[in-house]
Amino acid sequence: NDKYTQERQEAYNINKDAARYFYRSLVTNPKALEYLNKRQISANTIRGFGLGFAPESWEGLYRFLLSKGYGSEQIEKIGLIGKKSGNNGYYDKFRNRIMFPIIDTKSRIIGFGGRVLDDKMPKYLNSKESIIFNKGNHLYGLNLVNKHSNRKRILLVEGYIDVISLYSKGINYAVASLGTALTERQGRLLKRYGDEVYIAYDSDTAGVKATLKAIDILLKEDVKPKIILLPDGMDPDDYINKMGKIEFEKLFLNSYNHIDYKILINKKKYDLNDIEDKIKFTTEVSKIIKDLKSPVEQDVYINKISEDTGVSKEAIEKEIKGNKIYNT
Ligand code: ATP
Ligand code: MN
Ligand code: MN
Ligand code: MN
Repeated sequence: NDKYTQERQEAYNINKDAARYFYRSLVTNPKALEYLNKRQISANTIRGFGLGFAPESWEGLYRFLLSKGYGSEQIEKIGLIGKKSGNNGYYDKFRNRIMFPIIDTKSRIIGFGGRVLDDKMPKYLNSKESIIFNKGNHLYGLNLVNKHSNRKRILLVEGYIDVISLYSKGINYAVASLGTALTERQGRLLKRYGDEVYIAYDSDTAGVKATLKAIDILLKEDVKPKIILLPDGMDPDDYINKMGKIEFEKLFLNSYNHIDYKILINKKKYDLNDIEDKIKFTTEVSKIIKDLKSPVEQDVYINKISEDTGVSKEAIEKEIKGNKIYNT
């Protein structure tokens, strides 16, 4: 046990030294600075988030960490270097990428994300899972929410840059699930750190899918999330850069509860002027209404859908009962 504590402590130290190396590489690299400048990320924000740059080099970081006295095996275990084939030494895993330290609520660097400067694939690379890094147990940005926000509101977004961009423009309560499906553990963290949970995932197919999944996770934790709908193809970073903080904040007032959101997603999918689409829409939405626990709630939505489609209330009720009886 003590051995593990020590090993973890060393892993945090390696990451901290690596972050220093990345930071120094960034502030001396015009190309990387220009990229961040283009993304509207200021010197102040770079410092605040400890952003960095992994240079082109194959062993710059490796040599630096060796010079600090760390062992190759330890460095490899947290994914900063990889073994060359044929047991032939090690190479830096992150090269030519903007580096995002992932910091936990105790201010320890548990891992990194790295983004290419162009549109090469993969766009992002993350530290591998290790004794100090379990992606699904953390939310990027939670260390700052913990420090600054009033805990009333928490906003769930997809990416590093969304959190950073929002924060630098005065919205200091955003956290990111880092592109993977929200885990139960992350759901509980959201519940713990915010009285109201908002979701603003990217407005694309993947984002909608991830939103539906996140809604289910949160409902299981008894959290009723509100969903923010961005214009097609946009993410929170795009939106706040284009529209500013005031407009972004209006999104909260226009957010949807999870049922309205699901109905809206279906509305976008189907053309209600087309008969077959209208039938499909009504059938799909009936399934959503069937899942509601309260008869009053069911009635409200049955009325709404009847108005939207011109299908009679009675028919929708029968559809719901046909799928199964109300709530049995
Ligand atoms: P940018 O604005 O720089 O393009 P983004 O955050 O909008 O970045 P998305 O493609 O929307 O990029 O991805 C959202 C998040 O998902 C990223 O911030 C990253 O954490 C994670 N992610 C994306 N692609 C990958 C990948 N290939 N491997 C691991 N994680 C990824
Ligand atoms: Mn996306
Ligand atoms: Mn983006
Ligand atoms: Mn995005």
